[in-house]
Amino acid sequence: KEENLLQNDKLAVIGQLAAGIAHEIRNPLTSLKGFIQLMRSDKSFNEQYLKIMDNEINVVESISRELMVLAKPQPEDFKLCDIQTIFENCMTLLEGEIFQKRVKIIRKYSMEKITVLCDEQKIKQVLINLVKNALDAMEGPGNITVKISKRGNHGVISIKDEGVGIPNELIDKLGKPFFTTKSNGNGLGLMMSFKIIEEHNGKIAVKSEPGVGTVFTISIPLHD
Ligand code: ADP
Repeated sequence: KEENLLQNDKLAVIGQLAAGIAHEIRNPLTSLKGFIQLMRSDKSFNEQYLKIMDNEINVVESISRELMVLAKPQPEDFKLCDIQTIFENCMTLLEGEIFQKRVKIIRKYSMEKITVLCDEQKIKQVLINLVKNALDAMEGPGNITVKISKRGNHGVISIKDEGVGIPNELIDKLGKPFFTTKSNGNGLGLMMSFKIIEEHNGKIAVKSEPGVGTVFTISIPLHD
């Protein structure tokens, strides 16, 4: 069953986001403070401490970088683009990772070009994010199937992986700020993606079966 993912109550989202940011930033700051104290009392210069401190600063930096996009919406740059070309441009950026993982991208494109009015950079950000998540979900070689087609008055792109899948009870958490199951994840990718698709008056849906795989489907109104 497909679940609509854009039904979050906005205020609740802002509240969660604020709580999340406070929490995510406090941890590295506490740790930085601790190391400063340690270095003061030690009086010894410790390269290892500096390494950890540097890493903590990177964490705070990455959170701030991702959130800037929310705080200061860039002027929208809507142009007519065809979805296949946008997707192929994303593929160039991900080629290395796809090759390394021995994943095959299976393209199922409709014959006609599917043109939508969109902000290409933002849609690219969404597609890269979804393909990256698909790659992360796959533990070994397999296929990612990308379908681009027309459904009613929408252009539709679906990205199907053969990864670990998402347990049913976690589906509602997707797109909540900082929800991640990855040790190196920040849990902001889907939140940003949902926001971008919403700005395009589009829809995003997910269908997943643990142990089998996941399909994310995006639809954007067609330009006529
Ligand atoms: P991050 O990738 O940093 O964890 P995201 O917001 O992109 O942040 O994803 C949040 C979580 O959603 C992931 O940690 C993962 O648990 C789950 N997820 C997203 N896409 C997939 C997928 N294709 N297959 C399995 N789980 C997924």
